[in-house]
Amino acid sequence: MRTDPRRRQLEIARDDLRRRLSRLAVHVDAGGGSGDFIDSAHAMEQEDTATRGVEIVARELAQVERALQRCDEGEWGWCIDCRRPIAPARLRALPEAIRCLVCQRLAESGVEIH
Ligand SMILES: [Zn+2]
Repeated sequence: MRTDPRRRQLEIARDDLRRRLSRLAVHVDAGGGSGDFIDSAHAMEQEDTATRGVEIVARELAQVERALQRCDEGEWGWCIDCRRPIAPARLRALPEAIRCLVCQRLAESGVEIH
């Protein structure tokens, strides 16, 4: 089976993120249950940082996996909002991009209603 080089790039990014995630997850696990009261505040702080790191990497991983899925569906490289092709330069810099620059800016600026 022929592998699309762009897909390969996404797979490499996904594997890298998975490795980072498993390393961070180990760190989060190690933070709990040590029973050392003196270090507990410091440990909690470290655990907190690691937990935030896990969240960030997990979010990136979800984006890359979504892009891979879109590759399989033949949808990769097309904006999910305006259905126009995403600029090749943008895809090179951000293979997991699912929106063109215009739609991405719109999504980031206006859609979040609290
Ligand atoms: Zn668009």
